[in-house]
Amino acid sequence: METKAKNVVTIDPKRCILCANCYNFCNNDGGGAIRLHSGDDIGLHAYVVYDLCGGCQKCIDICPQNAIQKAIYENGIVKKL
Ligand code: SF4
Ligand code: SF4
Repeated sequence: METKAKNVVTIDPKRCILCANCYNFCNNDGGGAIRLHSGDDIGLHAYVVYDLCGGCQKCIDICPQNAIQKAIYENGIVKKL
């Protein structure tokens, strides 16, 4: 099924220090789209559930690591801007 392109954000797992700023912000003011994750070989980092992201992109400014970047999500594929 084709989906319309929408604004999202993506998180660079190498930069993320798992401070949870974005997680807390999105739970309060966004769509609850950020998860704190430990299940892969990159180690601990936050990641975005793109289907839940409302695209406000406000979490970008509260990341102390500049780990969050603007992106577009379409048909299951995310592209950094
Ligand atoms: S862009 Fe908005 S909705 Fe999406 S993850 Fe960031 S705070 Fe949540
Ligand atoms: S705000 Fe940045 S460093 Fe903190 S958990 Fe989110 S992505 Fe990681």
